[in-house]
Amino acid sequence: MKIKRFYAHCDAIEGTPGVFYCSFCNELVKEKHFGEEHPNKNHVHKFNATLAEWKQKEARGTTRVRPDDAPNRLMK
Ligand SMILES: [Zn+2]
Repeated sequence: MKIKRFYAHCDAIEGTPGVFYCSFCNELVKEKHFGEEHPNKNHVHKFNATLAEWKQKEARGTTRVRPDDAPNRLMK
């Protein structure tokens, strides 16, 4: 079974500098996307929500993995 990387909201995409995952849109986006499309959203809250969701899936057995030190634009 192939291991796939799980991306939480605002995680940086590995191997693609300047590109992040937007969980609101379920798309890979540039930094400016967050300010232009979601200026009034709580991104930390969304990040924590996507992470909690993934941890529940992980407990039930998901093939997706996320490193503890995964780079994220919120963690600067
Ligand atoms: Zn978005």
